[in-house]
Amino acid sequence: MALKSSNNLSGVPLWYPGGSSYVGQWWGKPHSFTFEETFLFRCAVAVYELTTILPSPYNGIHHITSLGTLAGVTGEHAKGKAIDIAAVFFKDNGFVIVDWYDGPFTGAARLVHRRRYLALEAVWRRFFSYIDNRYDPKHQNHWHGDTVNPYDANGAPIFNCPANPKGCRRSCWFIQEAWNQIWRYIPGNLSVAPAVKRTGEWDASAKKALSQGIARANKAALVPGTIVMNRGDWWPKFCLATAKIGIQSGLTPYF
Ligand SMILES: [Zn+2]
Repeated sequence: MALKSSNNLSGVPLWYPGGSSYVGQWWGKPHSFTFEETFLFRCAVAVYELTTILPSPYNGIHHITSLGTLAGVTGEHAKGKAIDIAAVFFKDNGFVIVDWYDGPFTGAARLVHRRRYLALEAVWRRFFSYIDNRYDPKHQNHWHGDTVNPYDANGAPIFNCPANPKGCRRSCWFIQEAWNQIWRYIPGNLSVAPAVKRTGEWDASAKKALSQGIARANKAALVPGTIVMNRGDWWPKFCLATAKIGIQSGLTPYF
């Protein structure tokens, strides 16, 4: 395993928490992190993709605040094959601070911040086959991404509910929140649909959120072709559509 140190991902600076600006510790300070080499490349491609779908009003990414990569004695972090992401700061139009998902915002500002959070998680899900998100009490202030779950022949993560209950629950939370905060409002010419229960289980609520979300993603035509469940590429396509509409609607609330 070759380890490599980097202070950026695809040119986007990496910072570590600590500092005293208006957003306190999450703004952070420039920092180098140690990655396993192939995992570093995967992280860089994920950030590159995020930069390519970011609408121009954000004016690019100022920096990403990470809680770490190589850490501990067991698990993927011990190999430098996991990353903890606490915040993403855009050059214009604000940021996503994972800790603030339920934090200081209310009303439209909370909706906008949550949409950005979910859009970013959708991008991570196209590259990391396992994600810890806010479903898990230990991950209220950061995403954990690694590669322990299977990938398809094209190198894309496979949607693996209900085969992997731990990873599946986080995926279901993501799907249910993507519906509740993003898809049920759009495309904008449709009426706002009811929210589903945020259970974090592969149950009727998650299946409804997913099928209705896919229907609206197809209507919005955010990816080439049509998203058809059980075709090999449906999960990365759904994540890309969620990332695109999430980051766009994180600029302009649909009310
Ligand atoms: Zn982690």
